[in-house]
Amino acid sequence: MASSSREIDPRRLDVAAFASAAGELAGEWPAERLPRLAAAGIDTDDGAPRAAIAWHAVGERRVLAGAGLQSSLAIDADTEVTLECQRCLQPMRLPLHAERRIFFVDGEDAAAVLDAESEDDVLASTPALDLAELIEDELLLALPLVPRHERCPEPLPRAFVEDDPATDPADNPFAVLAALKHGPRLS
Ligand SMILES: [Zn+2]
Repeated sequence: MASSSREIDPRRLDVAAFASAAGELAGEWPAERLPRLAAAGIDTDDGAPRAAIAWHAVGERRVLAGAGLQSSLAIDADTEVTLECQRCLQPMRLPLHAERRIFFVDGEDAAAVLDAESEDDVLASTPALDLAELIEDELLLALPLVPRHERCPEPLPRAFVEDDPATDPADNPFAVLAALKHGPRLS
């Protein structure tokens, strides 16, 4: 570790300085610290407090295709969320993992162009990056679109069980309902 985490505020991170110093930061935030992620989940079914978010960030000067040596940040984060299963509507706990490398270049316009051209994620460099917000964005992206238990805890009515060879849509009007129920939810 080339730099100590002393005096570095993860809510106001100077990305260029952090990358130049090959900085490394790690920590743990309580769930309430990431309010958008907290709002995406539901309370745990056993009344336990929501899981904390363990996170880690490493700065590095690194070559970005078409732009030479630039500041970059590798972040990863782990937590556990409770979501409502869209099949049985019971709470389900899910480990959530996010991991991404992001490049930071000078200027919003340059960042937008490079982000579109490159396979890497590119943002505009800032002397006061809110690392919590960035990590929260990544964790939100890692949420499943339609959360469902691999196996729901309660036995379900037959018409709602997927992949049941005995369920023939031709003689089962409930299959239509089941198909609707299993469609992606946008809200
Ligand atoms: Zn379920």
